Amino acid sequence: MTELDLLIDLHKNTDRQGPGSENDTLKALDFIPISGNKDLVVADIGCGSGGQSITLAQNIDAQITAVDLFPQFLDELNKNAQRLGLQEKITTLEKSMDDLPFEKESIDIIWSEGAIYNMGFEKGIKKWKEYLKPQGYLAVSEITWITSNRPKEVDEFWNEAYPEIDIASNKIKILEENGYNLVGYFYLEEDSWIKNYYKLLEDKFDSFLTEHKHSETAQNVVENYKSEIELYRKFKAYYSYGFYVARKE
Ligand code: SAM
Repeated sequence: MTELDLLIDLHKNTDRQGPGSENDTLKALDFIPISGNKDLVVADIGCGSGGQSITLAQNIDAQITAVDLFPQFLDELNKNAQRLGLQEKITTLEKSMDDLPFEKESIDIIWSEGAIYNMGFEKGIKKWKEYLKPQGYLAVSEITWITSNRPKEVDEFWNEAYPEIDIASNKIKILEENGYNLVGYFYLEEDSWIKNYYKLLEDKFDSFLTEHKHSETAQNVVENYKSEIELYRKFKAYYSYGFYVARKE
């Protein structure tokens, strides 16, 4: 199995593939004035197995297109939607986020939790704006510095892993320079990282290694996650996912 197959396998049977929570999704949704709006057109981009697509479907009157590059996650989402009786509200689409088939100005809300980094924040918000109706909303979570200064170790790690990481005020400036008005911002608390994501991954490490016969690649995958988790535990005061909710001008 390739490293990518193993990563998908490790993440497949969990509600989320990154930090977040039902509360975070609802908190971001609260910034969007949707009361009374029916049949909203929503896209959830980089949905994974669709933790947030399910929350959205349970809380708004909408048709949600949940997009991901990997069919293994979409299969999970379809099963969960079916189990919860939400299959009429969620349609899955296997596509890359930089090659979406949406028509211009056709979408009311673009949602994306912990995924826009695959395309890059600035490139993503620019491209996706075309699909939003005028006054449509964008809700994205993205790795963000919480403080202006931080220890060299964590600064170097993240600048190497994702050079677009920045403080929230600079991310907001990018949104404003690209035709969005910010309507809300918050960052994810520790539970959204540890309890809802890292702890669940940690609980799977042993069975994952056994299943993959302790192959070198499987061991590397686990070691990389252990380092990432240790980094978070040590430096959680300096970074988190920022949740940005903005309206297209
Ligand atoms: N939104 C989910 C969540 O919060 O649980 C998943 C977040 S996970 C960190 C990032 C997701 O982006 C994965 O499901 C991955 O398959 C998807 N992804 C990666 N590259 C992509 C691409 N080019 N187009 C669409 N989805 C992509």
